[in-house]
Amino acid sequence: MDAALTKYEEILERTKAFYLTSSRIKLERDFYRLFAQFLLDLTRREGTAPLTPASAVELERWIKARLTDLTQYLHTQINGGSRANGTLRDAAELVTNGHLQATTEAAALAGVSYSANYDRIPERTLRLMIMRSQAEGLSESFRSLLPLRTRELAGDIDTFLVHMVATGESWQSSTTRLAKILSRDNASVLDALGQLGPRGGRLRRFLKAEPLPEVDLKQAKQLLHRSRRIVITETNQAYHTSDIVASAASPVVLFLVWTLSGRHAGLPSSPDVCDLIALHDAGYGPGHYPPEICPSLLHPYCLCTTRKVLRPASQWRLPKPPIARPQGLSRDAAETMLLGRAGDRVPTSAFVRAQWQRANRKIFASYTTYQELADVGS
Ligand SMILES: [Zn+2]
Repeated sequence: MDAALTKYEEILERTKAFYLTSSRIKLERDFYRLFAQFLLDLTRREGTAPLTPASAVELERWIKARLTDLTQYLHTQINGGSRANGTLRDAAELVTNGHLQATTEAAALAGVSYSANYDRIPERTLRLMIMRSQAEGLSESFRSLLPLRTRELAGDIDTFLVHMVATGESWQSSTTRLAKILSRDNASVLDALGQLGPRGGRLRRFLKAEPLPEVDLKQAKQLLHRSRRIVITETNQAYHTSDIVASAASPVVLFLVWTLSGRHAGLPSSPDVCDLIALHDAGYGPGHYPPEICPSLLHPYCLCTTRKVLRPASQWRLPKPPIARPQGLSRDAAETMLLGRAGDRVPTSAFVRAQWQRANRKIFASYTTYQELADVGS
């Protein structure tokens, strides 16, 4: 491969590495700090008198209000709200700058001049994410998941407080137990607590020492886990999707080749839909997709990435080949692929069906969305 193309790849790789080691780490840190502050505020009210039905109602109202605030804050943090500069946009801007720099430097090395239009990539990315998630019909996005979970959680907290009133627990003891359940020995959130001054440090030591209460709060225990999952997944999706949009705009990128993360094979859920997308030939070669119809990330925490197939400088001024409807994956082919990679862990037929259906949903949602956007001329 010539120097210009090597340079292009190098800059994209550096951009991704920066995102993973700096940008995303900051996002996670902010998220944990926010959650720790909520726990600290939860336990701030002093009180050794037993929790009464009336004070339980008051406490419950306070928790619900704070969780709504937390959800709203995360939503703004991610989507930007009226400020329109959330983490989704940050990720999209990072990718846009990467492609812009890669294009400029590759052109200089190749000694050619051509123009690429990377205008409004963050806006186009956000629109594509929304359109694709609607076309996929998979309700995993921040917009749908968190409000729903918060409602289920409310029932859990109600149950917990009724129990605390019945057993004569004080306000203080009830809130610290709840903090214990909500933090669930999570090292990251405990570390964040430790950084919130002496009171945070004290609560951290206390939560580490306190055993988990026996009351089982299914939703509450998972709140932190789920919120983090959504924050991370949505932002990764923004990174991936803006890379799709920028690659489509780039005269240099011909195909994206679906690439599993290094850790994928070792996961208990592997092989899964990621393997299917990486192996499937939609008409462009195994795992090869024109950027415009490259699927979105396949499941929460999906760490798949894409390798780029680049065009030589002599082709940069030529239009890219037209995009044909991708071929779907047959159930038999999906089964063969999964069995071929499963080793001793033979997947159930329900698992095979679910992964196969998800692969096709992702493939066709990308194409449908591409057509819709082509119709409106953007
Ligand atoms: Zn994946």
